[in-house]
Amino acid sequence: AEKILEVKNLKKYFHVGRNQVIKAVDDVTFDVYKGETLGLVGESGCGKSTIGRTLIRLYEATSGSVIFKNKNVHQLKGQELKKFNREMQMIFQDPYASLNPRMTVGDIVAEGLDIHGLVKNNKERRERVLELLKTVGLGEEHIDRFPHEFSGGQRQRIGIARALAVNPDFIIADEPISALDVSIQAQVVNLMKRLQREKGLTYLFIAHDLSMVKYISDRVGVMYLGQLVELADSQELYEHPLHPYTEALLSAVPIPDPNKEKRRERIILKGDVPSPINPPSGCRFRTRCPKAMDICAEAVPAWQEVRPQHWVACHLYQEEAGK
Ligand code: SF4
Ligand code: MG
Repeated sequence: AEKILEVKNLKKYFHVGRNQVIKAVDDVTFDVYKGETLGLVGESGCGKSTIGRTLIRLYEATSGSVIFKNKNVHQLKGQELKKFNREMQMIFQDPYASLNPRMTVGDIVAEGLDIHGLVKNNKERRERVLELLKTVGLGEEHIDRFPHEFSGGQRQRIGIARALAVNPDFIIADEPISALDVSIQAQVVNLMKRLQREKGLTYLFIAHDLSMVKYISDRVGVMYLGQLVELADSQELYEHPLHPYTEALLSAVPIPDPNKEKRRERIILKGDVPSPINPPSGCRFRTRCPKAMDICAEAVPAWQEVRPQHWVACHLYQEEAGK
């Protein structure tokens, strides 16, 4: 498959106070293939939203590279930057906070059309907006209304229509369904899946809920304290989790039919996630890992492909990779 995005050794540090540094994203490497959905999961504060924001250049990277369609995103200027700003779009967790309350839905959806000069006149603009609203399941009667007149699920549809307006290839969805009622979540996810098929979109789908991520993602990456700890095809990850943190997360996911899948014993992790200002030496998960060994405090486990297309950073598997 063709790579659309290559993230190499990405770091994003925030300086706080006098000498303190939050290592929000610390040496993360992964690729995204054209047309796939890559899910990114982890507890809040693990850096997954920061990755999304750094990829789309809402944040400048501290170091490392982000290559989108063979170009370094953080070096883009002028027309190339403008093109990138169209090709990569983001949808947010809280559609209400990300929609301007004083703009009509029509103007919100048309914003990108205006910025990028994609329509010639008002008639074409209105036609295009109506078409976009229809695409996400909203009708003509909604075009002159304001965001507060809509439900959470409808607002997320408006956010999706706004993102689609500029014909992107790549959409970063940062917890797009986390704020919605469970009954509405599946509708939004199904809409996203349909749009992906119809428009050939690539998604980075950020979430903390593993069950929904499994449903939508082709591959899943698991993050812990600013780092990617495991990445694999979703089925492979769910059937053969390697990293102890992934095992713990999966053990909390309810099993739909206990006879079909092997029963997982619930793993309760001890303690809390340490501070990203002063992360543990060696493996960052070691303070909570049920399988920690001496070496885990001494050496940072390398990010290695230990099974085909299955990456993990854990000392338990370093030899299997022939190291
Ligand atoms: Fe646990 Fe060690 Fe693996 Fe970290 S490297 S997850 S502490 S076994
Ligand atoms: Mg977040």
